[in-house]
Amino acid sequence: MPDPLLRDYQEPKVLVVDQSSENRALICECLRQLPNIRAIATGDSEQALRIFRESQPSLVLLDTTLAGTDGIALTRKIRAWEQGNNDNGVSPWTPIVFLSSVTDEHLLAEGIVAGGDDFLCKPVSEVVLLAKVRAMLRISTRQQEIWKVHRQLKDIAILDSLTGIPNRRHFDDTLAAEWKRCLRTETPLSIVISDVDFFKQFNDIYGHQAGDVCLKAVAASLSESLFRIEDTVARYGGEEFVAILPGTDASGAYAVAERMRQSARDLHIPHERGIDGRVSCSFGVASTRPSVDKAPLQLLRTADAGLYAAKRAGRNRVALESE
Ligand code: GH3
Ligand code: MG
Ligand code: MG
Repeated sequence: MPDPLLRDYQEPKVLVVDQSSENRALICECLRQLPNIRAIATGDSEQALRIFRESQPSLVLLDTTLAGTDGIALTRKIRAWEQGNNDNGVSPWTPIVFLSSVTDEHLLAEGIVAGGDDFLCKPVSEVVLLAKVRAMLRISTRQQEIWKVHRQLKDIAILDSLTGIPNRRHFDDTLAAEWKRCLRTETPLSIVISDVDFFKQFNDIYGHQAGDVCLKAVAASLSESLFRIEDTVARYGGEEFVAILPGTDASGAYAVAERMRQSARDLHIPHERGIDGRVSCSFGVASTRPSVDKAPLQLLRTADAGLYAAKRAGRNRVALESE
């Protein structure tokens, strides 16, 4: 499915749906007067819906009389499809302008209720049609800008600004959602908490800026150690990171944590007070089968206890804590 964000607004596409090939040709000819417009025309409503989904036009010019009431039905289908592409509260929206050879107030009202945005009676003068197309494309462009800002705000809201990986808020939401999912599917859920070893001393020796660079590299290495799409690693705070591994049992999670540990180690970031002169991380692992009498917080506490054990045992290691 094409991303509505990827609509090419440099060359907006206008979908012309009219069962008369003569009308289609006339409208397309008229549209050629506007710069950088690509007109796609069809007389078939099924095909129109397919083209709409696949090429994401910026505007639809639609004959309401298309095979009876098909124009209105097609509009409803387009709006339903757009609603189905709801992205956290914002759905794509494409202006639909009806062209009708009958001047009928009720048809106009029905078309607007179905999701149309304007209604022009045929024959439409070229001047009026082009003016309407310009106006609708302008709105369409603004709509796309809103989409972009929405997407950026969403990223800002869920990503940690230093490391670019998900933040604590996103972690909390994801853990709550995955807990419920694993409860439903009766699958295990594991957590890996990690903490950079001797990081205060790293900052003291190399400076805070070098500390930030180190955190970015560690975050990237931990992220790259997760291979499943459903796994998430987030910055939990300061120099702590946490991974959620849905559907993974204790031994699987231990293996993932070990891979994360090795990956951070393989960065070979010098740390004169670190273990063998390099930056390392310690890891606490906990695993459970979510049930109604347990809470995600318990799992986190258990993983944290594991982390504490790994620190006490000498750091640069993974400790699996049982429930
Ligand atoms: P341990 O091995 O026991 O974890 O020792 P530690 O020094 O890593 O632990 P401690 O909790 O005492 O220190 C954490 C340090 O992490 C303190 C703080 O200066 C540093 N830190 C936390 N957030 C950031 C950050 O965003 N950037 C940088 N540069 N440092 C950070
Ligand atoms: Mg810490
Ligand atoms: Mg630390």
